[in-house]
Amino acid sequence: MDEIEKSHASADTEALGGTYPGTSAIPSQAVKAPPRIRLRQQKLQLTFIGYVVVLSMFTALQVLGVWFFTLGFLLSRQVLPDIAECTPNMVAAVDDTCMPPQFDKVVMLVIDALRFDFTIPVEDSANPDQPSGELFHNNFPILHDTFLSQPQNAIHLKFMADPPTTTLQRLKGLTTGTLPTFIDAGSNFDGDSVDEDNWLLQLHKHNKTVAFMGDDTWKAMFSKYIDPTLNFPYDSLNVRDLHTVDNGVLEHMWPLLRESGSKQKWDVLIGHFLGVDHVGHRYGPNHYTMKEKLNQMNDVIKEVMKTLDNKTLLVVMGDHGMDATGNHGGEALDELESTFFMYLKRKFVHRKDKDVYDPRQKGKNYRAINQIDLVPTISLLLGLPIPHNNLGFPVDELFGDRDLTIGAFKTLVQIQKFRAQTPSLSQNDALNEEYRLLYRDFTEQVSSFSTKKTLSALVERTKKFQYSSLEEYLLEPSTYAERSRQRIVFLPFSKHGRMG
Ligand SMILES: [Zn+2]
Repeated sequence: MDEIEKSHASADTEALGGTYPGTSAIPSQAVKAPPRIRLRQQKLQLTFIGYVVVLSMFTALQVLGVWFFTLGFLLSRQVLPDIAECTPNMVAAVDDTCMPPQFDKVVMLVIDALRFDFTIPVEDSANPDQPSGELFHNNFPILHDTFLSQPQNAIHLKFMADPPTTTLQRLKGLTTGTLPTFIDAGSNFDGDSVDEDNWLLQLHKHNKTVAFMGDDTWKAMFSKYIDPTLNFPYDSLNVRDLHTVDNGVLEHMWPLLRESGSKQKWDVLIGHFLGVDHVGHRYGPNHYTMKEKLNQMNDVIKEVMKTLDNKTLLVVMGDHGMDATGNHGGEALDELESTFFMYLKRKFVHRKDKDVYDPRQKGKNYRAINQIDLVPTISLLLGLPIPHNNLGFPVDELFGDRDLTIGAFKTLVQIQKFRAQTPSLSQNDALNEEYRLLYRDFTEQVSSFSTKKTLSALVERTKKFQYSSLEEYLLEPSTYAERSRQRIVFLPFSKHGRMG
C-alpha cells in the first residue's frame, strides 16, 4: 500500500510538472518525511470513513423518518377502486335497476365562495326592520325570491362544506361523496385526476355528454369525463383577475343554452364562476365590487332560468364561503356555509314546514344539508347508481315519499358495501346489526299497501344509519377532521332538520 501511495505521490508531482524548477521541492520533501504524510493520510482516511458512517446514519434516519411519516402523520385514505352499478332488486316494491331519471338535462352552475348569507334576505343587525347595509347582503336575491314565490319549483338550502374549504377538496366531496383526508388536503394544487367513483364518471359510463366551462381545477380532475369538444377551462390561479373566468363561462354557456333542444349535444352543462371568490380575496366581502359581482351573478341566474325548458334542472351552488377578510380554507362557520339551490319549471319540490327555512339572523337556524348529500341526490335524480364511496344522503325535498324510500334503500345498500370494504368500519357490530334489521324491514314493510308513516319511519332510521356511518368515518385516523384534531364540523343530527 505504501508503495502504491508513493508511486501515486510521485506520479502526481510529475503530473503537476516536476520539471519546473520551483516544484522540485515537493517530491523530495515527500520522500524525506513519509511517516508524517502517512499519518496525515491515515487521518484523512479515518475522517472520510467517519463522514461515510455519519452520512449513512443520516440517510437511514431520513428513510426511517419518511417511512414513519407516511405511515402515521400522512395516512392516506384508502381509495376503493370499485365503481357502483345499479343495485339489483332485493325489495319487492323497489325497482330493480336505477331509478328512472327525473330530467333530460341538468345545468349546474358553481359560484365559487358563494356564502349562504349572500343569498338570503338579511336584516340590519341594529335595526331589524331595515335591510342590512353590508355590500355583500341583499344583492343576490333571485334564489330566495324564487324559492318563496314558486315553492314547488325551487329549493334553497344552506350547504355545509367539510373542511378544508378549498375548491379542489370541495369538488372531490361534491362528486364522490367522500370526505377529504389529510394527504388530500396537502395536494390542493396537485390537481390529480379523480379516478374513484363519482357521478361524472357515472355520466360518462352511461354515455351522457358533459360540457364544462370555467375554473380549470375541473380540467385536471375530470377531463376524461368531459366531452373534449365542449371543454372550456380557464386559469384559476390569478385571484387579481375578477372577470376572465366568468366572462369565459358566459361566452360558452349562452350559445350552448340557447341552441334549440334537438341541436343540444350536452346532457349536463357545468359552469364554474370564480368572480365572487376572487373579489373576496382581493377586496374582502364588504366592497362595492362585491355588490357589482353579486348583482351580475343574480342577473345571470335570472336569465338562465328564462332559457330553460321544463325538462332541464338548474342547480346553483357554492363550494365554500369566505371569512370577514374574504379568504377561506379553514373551518370557521362563515367559510363552511355555502349555498344550494335547485329549480325546475315543473313542480317537483316537496317542501317541509316553513319554519325550517328561517332566514332571520343570517340564516342561523336555516335548514342545512351536507355538501356530500348532493352526490346521492343528483345520482338518483339522473337515474345513475350512487357512487361507491358515498357517505351522503338524498335531500328529502327532492323526492316524493315513495321515491325517497327507494332512494333511502339504495343509499343504505351502497353505504353498507362501502363500510364492508373499509376495515375500520366493517368491525362495528352495532351498525352491521342495524343494517341487517333495516334491510329486513325494507323487504318486509315496503309494499304498495304500506302507509306514509311506515315509509317515513324507515327513511328516518336509514338516515340515522347513514349519519352514524359518517360520524364513524370522521373518526378514522386518516380523515382531515381527525388528523388535524378539529372538532367534527358536521351539524349534530337533530339540527340537520333530519329528525323532523
Ligand atoms: Zn378562493
